[in-house]
Amino acid sequence: MSELNELYQQVILDHNKKPRNFRKPEVFNRSAQGHNPLCGDQLTVYLQLDNGVISDVAFEGSGCAISKAAASMMTQALKGKTTDETNRLFTEFHQMVTGDENEETADDLGNLRIFSGVREFPVRVKCATLPWHTLKAALDNQTTASTE
Ligand code: ZN
Repeated sequence: MSELNELYQQVILDHNKKPRNFRKPEVFNRSAQGHNPLCGDQLTVYLQLDNGVISDVAFEGSGCAISKAAASMMTQALKGKTTDETNRLFTEFHQMVTGDENEETADDLGNLRIFSGVREFPVRVKCATLPWHTLKAALDNQTTASTE
């Protein structure tokens, strides 16, 4: 467990310092804003959805290291995925951080599994899931998401 913790911290710090896909794309056809009032995290997720496939995904915003790292890693995981695959990953990620991880789905999550550590910290669960809720809102054609 301590190895996982160390990895978790390193990866989070790295993504916080150099968030991937941290930009507003020139072309996008979906976007949504997310807000986590408990922590103050705010972000906007941009998506380019082509025939049910996420051909580009990026984000902007400000927040704690966990929300930023979660958004950064989410964009890496979702580029090129279909909306069905994305919905499945959303559910799996959500189950993992809230504590009902299922052995069968663990593989799909890949390096997103480092966020399993946040389940020990209920306040942080909302930081880790905010980017995902915001992405889901964009996919569902809603413009705002909240963790409340
Ligand atoms: Zn936060």
